[in-house]
Amino acid sequence: MTLGIVAALHEEIADLLAEMAPGAHVEHIGMRDYYVGKLHGHDCVIVLARIGKVAAAATTTALIHRFDVRELVFTGVAGGLAHGLAVGDVVIADTLTQHDMDASPLFPRYEIPLLGRASFNAESALRDALAQAARDWLAEELHEQVSAEWRAQWQMAAPRVHVGQIASGDRFVSSANEVTLLRGHLPQALAVEMEGAAVAQVCHEYGIPFAVMRTLSDAADDTAHVDFPRFLREVASHYSHGILRRFLRSRPAHPPSHPPSRP
Ligand code: SAH
Repeated sequence: MTLGIVAALHEEIADLLAEMAPGAHVEHIGMRDYYVGKLHGHDCVIVLARIGKVAAAATTTALIHRFDVRELVFTGVAGGLAHGLAVGDVVIADTLTQHDMDASPLFPRYEIPLLGRASFNAESALRDALAQAARDWLAEELHEQVSAEWRAQWQMAAPRVHVGQIASGDRFVSSANEVTLLRGHLPQALAVEMEGAAVAQVCHEYGIPFAVMRTLSDAADDTAHVDFPRFLREVASHYSHGILRRFLRSRPAHPPSHPPSRP
């Protein structure tokens, strides 16, 4: 059973790529590099989808068709929407909605035309395993991997894990105004990003279980762009690597699909 691991930004998968067992190989399809190999005993394909819903959907489709991926995890950063969330918190999706989908009045706002739904559910076992891995990593490894100095700089007092709705759209949200609008329209949404709900739609259409994990890099307000690359390098890359490593180790490795026959 092959697991797809997808991200929008290089820093979010760089350390996992470095960790792939010797023997991994790369396939170049549709302007993307798919790294096929083993990670902690699991068959995995790691790929940089790049930013936005179309990029994420196209990559997800290739993972399913060309690489026979049967489960998928997306890792990345997001802007916090809900009150009380802080930079450095982790949001794990339970449902995902495309906040820029609006075919009204033909269809209700947010509903995907002809699919009859406005949100997609992450698979519960994957979601819960990721949330557990995130909680354990924050409790046991955060202080080793992200220095006290950096945590202070990013005002990360006591990062927490939240499970809830993620809103996705083709827009980097970076104003208090937009945050207020999104909160008004999608009051349950915890975080906003640019890929999750697109991956979710494709996985739904193909019946592939998936989960989405996001480290909050900003509050989606007027300061959202400040030092984004530095946050990725100094904080989010460690989250992504550490939490996914724990997630993979927590899952039983599947035996090879064709066990060697006895002499
Ligand atoms: N300025 C960045 C661009 C990153 S785009 C750069 O120079 O590389 C933002 C990426 O992070 C997307 O993959 C998106 O999913 C996520 N993201 C983080 N904060 C976001 C926000 N406030 N709004 C939308 N997407 C956000």
